[in-house]
Amino acid sequence: MKRLRKESEKREMDENPSLPSFKYYPDPLADGIVKADPDKPCLGCGRIRGWIYTGPVYVEKNFILEESLCPWCIADGTAAKRFGASFNDAGMMEDMSQAIMEEIEQRTPGFNSWQGNQWLTCCNDAAAFLGAAGSAELQRDFPKAIPAVKKYSREDYELTGDDLQKFVDSLSKDDQPTAYVFQCLHCQGYLAYVDQT
Ligand SMILES: [Zn+2]
Ligand SMILES: [Zn+2]
Repeated sequence: MKRLRKESEKREMDENPSLPSFKYYPDPLADGIVKADPDKPCLGCGRIRGWIYTGPVYVEKNFILEESLCPWCIADGTAAKRFGASFNDAGMMEDMSQAIMEEIEQRTPGFNSWQGNQWLTCCNDAAAFLGAAGSAELQRDFPKAIPAVKKYSREDYELTGDDLQKFVDSLSKDDQPTAYVFQCLHCQGYLAYVDQT
């Protein structure tokens, strides 16, 4: 049964080219932040769209929106307008235009992290979030981001030499500390930070 479900999820993904695209979060399926759910209605549009958002939601009032929004209602701003919902905190982004900050906060999926996420910036724009990574994922999926992870670890954790390498080797996607990988949409450079509780 489990296997069947997996296969049908895969098929839906392939046959669903109309999932909304997020400029700053190109692949929300990768970490399961948007996942297939054939039964769950979205509280934003009231429809069962087959896809549900599982990431963090911040609301001003007492709405319970966890695992209750479809990605379309995030992308078009319906969830933000209707519930005052936001998905990221752009407060730490420096020198960003109001329009970019609003897109990150109100119309871009968030990601799960240990202490609340930061959105990194480059070339006067928000960078694209590629995913959470431990040392295995860094080597397999984001080898070009390893220098950025090392740079952050050197500067923020003041690690060097063997200690630095050990720290990078100890990174885990599911346990902490975890690296968060971004790529600049303009210069294509990789950016990263590391977080733990
Ligand atoms: Zn919806
Ligand atoms: Zn750049």
